Amino acid sequence: MKQIGQHAVVIGASMGGLLAARALADFYAEVTVLERDTLPLTDVPRKGVPQGRHAHGLLARGRSVIEAFFPGWTDEVVAGGGARGDIVQDVSWIGYGVTIKSAPSDLIGLLASRPVLEGHVRRRLLALPNIRAIENCAVQGLVADDGGTVIKGVRVRIGNGVEQNVTADLVVDASGRGSSSPAWFENLGYARPEEERIEIGIGYTTRVYRRRPTDLGGKVAVVVAGSGPNWRNGTILYQTEDRWIVSIGGYFGDHAPDDPQMFAAYAGSLPTSDIHDIVAHAEPLSDFVSYRYPANLRRRYERMTRFPRGYLVFGDALCSFNPVYGQGMTVAAQEATLLQACLRDGDADLARRFFHAAKGAIDTPWDIAVGNDLRHPQVQGPRPPKVRFINWYIGKLHMAARHDAVLAKAFLKVANLEAPPARLLHPAVVMRVIRGNLFRRPRGNETISQAATPG
Ligand SMILES: Cc1cc2nc3c(=O)[nH]c(=O)nc-3n(C[C@H](O)[C@H](O)[C@H](O)COP(=O)(O)OP(=O)(O)OC[C@H]3O[C@@H](n4cnc5c(N)ncnc54)[C@H](O)[C@@H]3O)c2cc1C
Repeated sequence: MKQIGQHAVVIGASMGGLLAARALADFYAEVTVLERDTLPLTDVPRKGVPQGRHAHGLLARGRSVIEAFFPGWTDEVVAGGGARGDIVQDVSWIGYGVTIKSAPSDLIGLLASRPVLEGHVRRRLLALPNIRAIENCAVQGLVADDGGTVIKGVRVRIGNGVEQNVTADLVVDASGRGSSSPAWFENLGYARPEEERIEIGIGYTTRVYRRRPTDLGGKVAVVVAGSGPNWRNGTILYQTEDRWIVSIGGYFGDHAPDDPQMFAAYAGSLPTSDIHDIVAHAEPLSDFVSYRYPANLRRRYERMTRFPRGYLVFGDALCSFNPVYGQGMTVAAQEATLLQACLRDGDADLARRFFHAAKGAIDTPWDIAVGNDLRHPQVQGPRPPKVRFINWYIGKLHMAARHDAVLAKAFLKVANLEAPPARLLHPAVVMRVIRGNLFRRPRGNETISQAATPG
């Protein structure tokens, strides 16, 4: 591909930064990834990615995008202990208090621990001839031209050394949701980007357990998206042949306790006994760890009227979502594809073009995560009639999808970011939703929560 610059720098070597660097490698003679942490020699959690101790799965879309960047990557992760899974057949999905129907599909996701997923991407990336990473390298600020209109590089401190400048034609900030870009912009005389925050006060408590191949009837994951009356979320995911990871938690301080009996009781309050049965009976293989996730957070860089040249913001630094839908890594992968597409047209007006394209990729997962959160009565945020209608309709869709594999697949295609949400309003889908609600009533312990009336 056409080379458009000599040197690009990426801040952060987590999934976002690694995938951004892969996109840049086709267009810059050299790409340097700057990471504050020491990069681990084995695939273990590290300080800069604390969420790496919690359950992570890769949606079908994310898997296929990363596979396209690094052919053979999925096989490598599987050979390293991970598992491919048919998202509709091998995963139990519970939303609105009901389990939707399992059926074979072409949606193939990937399960492995977060450090394993990242480690395999990092090794493939660093094998490219024009990529290097500098570890223990904390970016302290930006280097700009005199007028502050062009970013020329970054100021870094490597280990305990003195501050020094690293110059670049393009700097990409992939430093996560704690990104300093808004503050750095302010120092350069720019406005801060508008921020949208939807406070949810989620807390996850996580523990690893011994897995037996017969557990969960051979399924590789169970995902519970919070719904009334108790709004608790939970997931159990395959980590390796002999390990499950369980992360459960709730909104606004209703967090799962880190005591074995109380944790099991909390798991027992989810609308499936699957997670409880493992937690109550399987051998624990780790201590409890917890993670606080205060708010969905979106920074609207695409709305800034003045933006310096030579700078982009990427991944969680741009938008971070309630993790229950497992979207973050997939959105970062999509952004990498979009960055590549933008760079094919050169670097003129790059920030405006990239942020506009990224907005298109972020809108759907944002609406999915925030839309579901807004069903919780304590979550503050705009609930226009469209949002209330969609939540009501998706509830009805779940009811019908308990027995209808076509609807289950249609919903999970959207949730896996493989199809636009508008597909769910196609007349053929609407007809199935109506039929499924007219002729099938919930049975036994199937609960209906929040699905009966709009809003
Ligand atoms: C509990 C939880 C569960 C999740 N589960 C899923 C899931 O199942 N599926 C999914 O797709 N996503 C999931 N996510 C989201 C996913 O973890 C992120 O979207 C993904 O890691 C991409 O983030 P990122 O690389 O942009 O930022 P981060 O992962 O936050 O990484 C930022 C990196 O930048 C480095 N850094 C920060 N500041 C500096 C600096 N000044 N100088 C140098 N380096 C710096 C950090 O050390 C770190 O390596 C989950 C998130 C959470 C919180």
